Amino acid sequence: MSLIVCHDCDLIHRVGPVPEGSAAKCSRCGALLYQHKRDSLERTLALTVTGLILFVVANAFPFLGFKLQAQVHETILITGVQELYHQGMWILATVVLLTTIVMPAAQRVFWFPL
Ligand SMILES: [Zn+2]
Repeated sequence: MSLIVCHDCDLIHRVGPVPEGSAAKCSRCGALLYQHKRDSLERTLALTVTGLILFVVANAFPFLGFKLQAQVHETILITGVQELYHQGMWILATVVLLTTIVMPAAQRVFWFPL
């Protein structure tokens, strides 16, 4: 038994185990409280691994390029962080590093919704 609060009307429910393929609904407004989806763990794992692979691919290939006459300059996220650091903007480099690489990677690795 666990307590679940309805997101629509704030009524508190005591909900027991929900059989696979069924759902618990609010007794007052009928809103969906909890749904036990089939193979949810396997689907979540597959999506998490896919997200991790796409995260690596997205950070390995250039996302921005400049072409000026014969010079072509392409950048990936980490080179932007390096450039900010080399220009003395280490606080901004740290913020960009945390928000574009570290936290999204940590979310992929450590956040595992069930
Ligand atoms: Zn409700």
